[in-house]
Amino acid sequence: MRFASRNTDFLPQAFYNIKADLPEPPKPPLHPGTKEPLKPEDLEAIFPKSFIRQEGVTDRDVPIPGPVLEAYSVFRPTPLIEATALRKALDTPARIFYKYEGVGPVGSHKTNTAIMQAYLAAQDGVKTLATETGAGQWGSALAYAGSRFGIETRIFMVRSSFRQKPGRRVIMEMFGGTVLESPSPTTEAGRRFYERDPEHPGSLGIAISEAVEVTVKTPGVKYALGSVLDSVLMHQTVIGLEAEKQMEEMGVVPDTIIGCVGGGSNFAGLAFPFVRHNLRGERQTRFIAVEPEACPSLTQGSLRYDFGDSVGLTPLLYMYTLGMDFVPPPLHAGGLRYHGMAPLVSHLASMGVVEPRAVDEKTVFDRAVLFMKTEGILPAPESSHAISVAVDEALAAKKDGRERTILFNLSGHGFLDISAYAKNGQGSRA
Ligand SMILES: *Cc1c(COP(=O)(O)O)cnc(C)c1O
Repeated sequence: MRFASRNTDFLPQAFYNIKADLPEPPKPPLHPGTKEPLKPEDLEAIFPKSFIRQEGVTDRDVPIPGPVLEAYSVFRPTPLIEATALRKALDTPARIFYKYEGVGPVGSHKTNTAIMQAYLAAQDGVKTLATETGAGQWGSALAYAGSRFGIETRIFMVRSSFRQKPGRRVIMEMFGGTVLESPSPTTEAGRRFYERDPEHPGSLGIAISEAVEVTVKTPGVKYALGSVLDSVLMHQTVIGLEAEKQMEEMGVVPDTIIGCVGGGSNFAGLAFPFVRHNLRGERQTRFIAVEPEACPSLTQGSLRYDFGDSVGLTPLLYMYTLGMDFVPPPLHAGGLRYHGMAPLVSHLASMGVVEPRAVDEKTVFDRAVLFMKTEGILPAPESSHAISVAVDEALAAKKDGRERTILFNLSGHGFLDISAYAKNGQGSRA
């Protein structure tokens, strides 16, 4: 038995830090007031000190602490699966593989960084972590990690998701988290939107403003972010490091790697360990980042400095952005409703290493059903964006009769998204 449980020897022992291999670094974050490059101490009002150190680390391999490995061993390594039934249904010469992150405690990849961030906060003696959540996956991951490391969590949940996904709220509360509907009347940032419209659907940008405000104003509270930042992407590289080893064991090398992008972390987590071979000139793997047409930061946004939130409290990040005021429609894939894109993913897209692709919601849902019928796993609507492009690529391979090896990230399961599938008309058809 190769994967005996609770054995940390099989896990990657260090995260991969892509910054050590980039030919040119991305432009640095700027202080929101002075517009000067941010100094680590500028972040101390917001983040735990140990987290700030991770954000600035320049080593290529960053060791994973023992207690974090132990927490990972509950669900890692996650399975790498060949989609043989999907391949048969598509009648394609392409081989399709997926890394399944839905087996974690709350059903998505978010737990990978949540555990690390809660561990670091606990090391620093932080009492409470404040955060925002879109679809609820990040909030539930942090609430779980907080309960594991003795940290309280206070979570601002985007109103449209709060209403669409009551199950996620219940889970966060069962882990001991406090959940507030955002925009809320409890913060200055929230009141700006709430007083104009108490039914405002909310956005990740607004919820971030609320969580950051609470952090800055309350002693003992620090802030945790579930995506976008360099170190969050780095924590997710356990996905790609495992996948690379697992594919090696099967004797295959992927030529096309696909992930959906909200803030960019699950895509980066799978892709970055493979990107390093392209950066060294050893391979020419294609990397496709998939976003919804309704929130198209990479395909329609501009590359410039912008705030990470909607009020202007966070540092300025150099990224593809639709603008801090952009409020996306209440998509079923709530986790992909962010106005910007991780600076590292933006940087690689501007270098031409990452290809952006936007897909429409109807196609995504149809492909999700095809995937479920063939592979038997109900995918998260977010992950279904990656499935959709994996299917496109497999069909393209069929057209030109070429063998291809496709790997995509199945970032989470959709068991708590059933109502979104029902609203989209799935389940009522034959
Ligand atoms: C949050 C989430 C995403 C999008 O966030 P990234 O930071 O871009 O990974 C994608 N899939 C699932 C299942 C999520 O929970």
